[in-house]
Amino acid sequence: MLIYNTFSKIKEEFIPVNPPNVTFYVCGPTVYDYFHIGNARSFIMADIIRRYLEYKGFNVDFVMNITDIDDKIINKSKENNKSTEEIAKFFTSAFYEDIQKLRIKPAVKNPRATESIQDVIEMIKILEEKGYAYNVDGNVYYDITKFKDYGKLSGKNIEELEAGSRVEVNESKRNPLDFVLWKKAKEGEPSWDSPWGKGRPGWHIECSAMSCKHLGKTIDIHAGGNDLIFPHHENEIAQSEAANEVKFVKYWIHFGFLTIHYEKMSKSLGNFFTAREILSKYSAEAIRLFFAQTHYRGPLNFSEELLSAAEKGVEKIKNLAEKVEMELQKPVTGEISQQFDFKKYYEEFEKVMDDDFNTPQAVAVIFDFVKNVNKLISENEKINSEFYNNVKEFLKDTAENVLGIIHFDSLYENKKSEVIEDKLIELLINVRLALKKEKNYALSDFIRDELNKLGIILQDSKEGTTFKRKK
Ligand code: AMP
Ligand code: ZN
Repeated sequence: MLIYNTFSKIKEEFIPVNPPNVTFYVCGPTVYDYFHIGNARSFIMADIIRRYLEYKGFNVDFVMNITDIDDKIINKSKENNKSTEEIAKFFTSAFYEDIQKLRIKPAVKNPRATESIQDVIEMIKILEEKGYAYNVDGNVYYDITKFKDYGKLSGKNIEELEAGSRVEVNESKRNPLDFVLWKKAKEGEPSWDSPWGKGRPGWHIECSAMSCKHLGKTIDIHAGGNDLIFPHHENEIAQSEAANEVKFVKYWIHFGFLTIHYEKMSKSLGNFFTAREILSKYSAEAIRLFFAQTHYRGPLNFSEELLSAAEKGVEKIKNLAEKVEMELQKPVTGEISQQFDFKKYYEEFEKVMDDDFNTPQAVAVIFDFVKNVNKLISENEKINSEFYNNVKEFLKDTAENVLGIIHFDSLYENKKSEVIEDKLIELLINVRLALKKEKNYALSDFIRDELNKLGIILQDSKEGTTFKRKK
């Protein structure tokens, strides 16, 4: 299995430190708002990679942190006259709700920054003892000149970085690129005791401390969006390798940006849709298919047309899944199972996914499978349950368990709620009929008009009243 490693800039054979275990750390959200559909791209692609590793038999220890103390959270708490805890708690719950709706598998652990303060302090103490950190009046900084390989992930050298960056003038730092490990408390801001006085952790050190605590000193995979390569991940390497004196990460995976009008979707530019907004219009399966159709490293431009097209694609797989479920409820009628090379489709799916998680190709394999199964079904009358069982198994193994673009259980849920809806409409039709008999036309028309607003059209005839749904 090959993975493109941002560190070496080539595809490398994937050999975890301790197979079949895989340690996988992903930089998670800062919980000051609902996450946008650009963040969702990174979360979903990380989820697909994790699910594929599990498909391959790896035991994946998947950790995603939650940054629950940060300048943005503090600002939001001031704007809303709420505590930082209230803001963080509210948006952490929203985060869990949204990832569940997007069918992202829960992480094994979601450590929060505020519960990791002691681990952060311990790591800064080690960096200080080893001479990598310096304290200026309660602010502790990392001295990047002390780490000889600084820049090795982003491939830049310090001079270039200094020249190219617009680092704010800060008299207390030795170098403009030095970054903060411990921020001295400001009046009215949340703070914790430390050997350097009251304060709070810098953002980069949180990930170094949490990944080490939960996954160990060397982790197999570390992932995040492209924007995190520099400075966040560069700084994580500098901190972790200076403190632990071993390689920090074997494989660095970075996700391309979701753009909108070809510009990065981001909170600060204001050009975003929240995942919630998009979920109110499109199914989680369609959103996931939309993402899976582009390779995780490439850019992807947001497009409602492509989301609608993805919804139609999901519908195709769903139609086959429903047909399969229906056939499996009947007794076996076919004499023999049809000749169909299921193994070939598994092999093709694995071949493309083994090549740096080529999800667009994997999607193509699934649609090819659906097309050929449909063809076979339409051309043969007697097909036995074994065949349908195999079709179901393939779709579950690949489309459901790896890509998450179909969900067998919800086929029933939707059906069930549709049946109840039909019964409720019929009940209203009967109530309306009774009202008409009592000459209460105002109320009977009200029922008809309100149903119409909901897209349900009543059709009166001599035989009675029927209904249809607006297309
Ligand atoms: P944040 O909450 O901004 O720290 O972002 C959480 C995750 O989403 C990080 O891994 C970011 O790199 C990623 N991310 C942010 N914006 C985008 C985008 N437009 N496209 C893809 N990933 C993004
Ligand atoms: Zn991080």
